[in-house]
Amino acid sequence: AEARLITNNPLSKAQHDLAVGTLPGGNTRTLLHTSPFPLCMKQGKDAYVWDIDGHKYVDFVGELSAGLLGHSHPTIHSTLLSTFSDTGLSLGATTPHEQTFAALLCDRFRLARVRMTNSGTEANLHALAGARHFTGRRKVVVFSGGYHGAVLSFPDGKPAANTVDRQDFVVVSRYNDLSLARQVIEQTEDLAAVLVEPMQGAGGCIPGTREFLQGVRQAAREKGVVFILDEVMTSRLAPGGLGWEMGLDPDMVTLGKYLGGGLAFGAFGGREEVMKVYDPRVEGALAHSGTFNNNTLVMCAGTAVLREVYTAAVCVAFNERGEKFRERLGKVAKSSRLSVTGRGSLIGLHFTEDGTQEIGCGEDLRGKERPDLRDLFWFEMLEAGFWTTRRGFIAMILGTPDDELDRFVDALGDFLERYRDIMM
Ligand code: PMP
Repeated sequence: AEARLITNNPLSKAQHDLAVGTLPGGNTRTLLHTSPFPLCMKQGKDAYVWDIDGHKYVDFVGELSAGLLGHSHPTIHSTLLSTFSDTGLSLGATTPHEQTFAALLCDRFRLARVRMTNSGTEANLHALAGARHFTGRRKVVVFSGGYHGAVLSFPDGKPAANTVDRQDFVVVSRYNDLSLARQVIEQTEDLAAVLVEPMQGAGGCIPGTREFLQGVRQAAREKGVVFILDEVMTSRLAPGGLGWEMGLDPDMVTLGKYLGGGLAFGAFGGREEVMKVYDPRVEGALAHSGTFNNNTLVMCAGTAVLREVYTAAVCVAFNERGEKFRERLGKVAKSSRLSVTGRGSLIGLHFTEDGTQEIGCGEDLRGKERPDLRDLFWFEMLEAGFWTTRRGFIAMILGTPDDELDRFVDALGDFLERYRDIMM
């Protein structure tokens, strides 16, 4: 399959050879590197992408969840064009647009106050700074497998090499293990915040159970530390975000991805007394800078997303569709080496030695993973016309037609049958 990929994609290969001359490894976003070389895309439209060698794919990457709206949503398209011509770009001043967008975000996600950033990473960095300022303490409890941004990741029980302030993070070694989490929160001194995803996204689409998340929330409350819920990926899963669906009442929430209409975006917000640390009218307040924080394109696109495109009703219907899709995939994969995790419109595919269904945290998969099967699946799905992530993460796109979902389920079934001897 890999040999065929090389033969079928000479232009992607040539492009990669060029790119390595100026970009380390040939790209500017490590995740996009795949061996032997990444496919190079030239266009996206609705739920489809085309590579430079001319192949068309149904897009199941969904820009790792930021592409929820598809590549050229008509409402976003017209909003961006009219904002550009009527308003211009950043005005070096406050504008009514950020207030409008902020009011919608506060209303949707039940935040008293919110501030914008240019990425989810920044949103988490500022939320952490705010929690530290608010409490006067430093340490942060996070979870193994947690991903909170480029410089805030905890893939295997410890901070990744590029995580900022590594010494300040205490990593709970198992997500979904409430008694362990409680113990760590209780025992950690100088603790400012607990930072957690209601479903681990990059960590494998592993949902937190209600009991676990509520218990962690409660432990944070008892300890008097700021409970920060990272909803950068999960805010799409329920109208007010997954945290409210789970009854978590977070002190702070971080947001990002599709909420900026597909442009660079992040936000952090929460309770008034915590967010007040960013109020410049208060003496000793923290500064929160960023040239593009209130850029008009994102403010107006985000407003259109919440008002016109991803309304509460659309969100509910979309995620119900996702539930059904995931269930169908799970059924097809039953008693194979593939297990399917996730929630709503976000899906994780895991190829393991024993096809385990008991996946509560990344550690449940450790040592059992079968990257060879995962890669084979990726190559074969490409040939069947599906663009998926090599790691097995699927982020659905709003406008993907039902018959493409059907085709995907069938293609998975065919694949498992074709490789029956190694997949079962
Ligand atoms: N938090 C979570 C849960 C995420 O999934 C991501 C992005 N994958 C981030 C934070 C970082 O967002 P960004 O890539 O916009 O910096």
